[in-house]
Amino acid sequence: MEPEKTETSEKQNSDHFRSEKYSMDSFDVLGTLGVGTFSRVRLVRSKDQSHMKPLALKILKKTSILKMRQIKHLRNEKEIMEQLDHSFITKILGTFQDDYYVFFVLEYACGGELFTRMKKLGTFPAQDAQFYIAELVLALEYLHDKGIVFRDLKPENILIDRLGHIKLSDFGFAKAISDGKTYTMCGTPEYLAPEIILGKGHGREVDWWALGVLLYEMLAGYPPYYDDSPFNIYQKILLGRLIFPPHFDDVICSLISGLLEPSIQKRIGYKQNAASELKNHAWFSNIDFSSLLAKECASPWVPELMSEDDTSNFNTYPDSLDQPHAPKFTRDRDPFIGF
Ligand code: ATP
Repeated sequence: MEPEKTETSEKQNSDHFRSEKYSMDSFDVLGTLGVGTFSRVRLVRSKDQSHMKPLALKILKKTSILKMRQIKHLRNEKEIMEQLDHSFITKILGTFQDDYYVFFVLEYACGGELFTRMKKLGTFPAQDAQFYIAELVLALEYLHDKGIVFRDLKPENILIDRLGHIKLSDFGFAKAISDGKTYTMCGTPEYLAPEIILGKGHGREVDWWALGVLLYEMLAGYPPYYDDSPFNIYQKILLGRLIFPPHFDDVICSLISGLLEPSIQKRIGYKQNAASELKNHAWFSNIDFSSLLAKECASPWVPELMSEDDTSNFNTYPDSLDQPHAPKFTRDRDPFIGF
């Protein structure tokens, strides 16, 4: 069933997402990798013989984007992603649109979300957490140097590539702020810095706060401030009573306390050379950041795949009839068949 085509959608169909390079005919559509608030992300394979690698296709329904007033956000996501070229950030290869959908063509991170890995393991060994956090320091340093704040750091938005390195993904909340501040409240409750909740304006320090939450969650198995209701989470974040599990050592406690410092001026990440301050912290004393950037350090986990199209590191999703979908047989087929 095609979604409703509206007059507004036609008016708003600027050339922004148009492309000479891609159309739906460029791809064979395979399974679903994930679903977001406005999107479904599918594994696709280019029909171009010279580029047969599987790719991820993020598909956004125009009527939903219009209803939720997300056009500006989407353009922003595209414009930001197009500026980025970093080993630890998902690359966008192009965008295109038809009457009903906007499509983002992305490189495929076959290892799934760090979130899935975390749920499977319960907690990460400190050495594994150190590897992922150190790669994130480099990704965030790169973004901040470009004047971009990410604003949605959480394990669901960290994907793992073929060799086990991270790929930061989902730039829906990212914003170019240079050295300024932004005021919109957005993000995920458990990961919000106090200044976002207070609405006093926030800058790139919120990403370092979120990194502290992530590090805590990776090692403890739960975030530092949590509750069933977002309101109570905000209260706890503002109260700032940080309690560490007994197995956290002094070095890790000092790093997390520095990142989860309520005062922005005292937080690790406030200074201009924030990333250097972090890299020099005792917890990273055994990390060679240049080798890490060159992907010369062995990753803690390399995804085991049956084939290039193997999606076993992702959850399974029922197919959707109202978005370009995979032929029925592709969802349940044995990964050995047909490759
Ligand atoms: P949200 O509502 O959480 O903001 P969204 O609509 O912006 O989501 P994404 O987070 O970009 O969508 O994608 C949804 C899911 O699809 C991801 O969590 C991930 O599991 C999967 N996914 C997205 N991009 C890729 C990719 N490049 N490679 C593999 N899987 C991906």
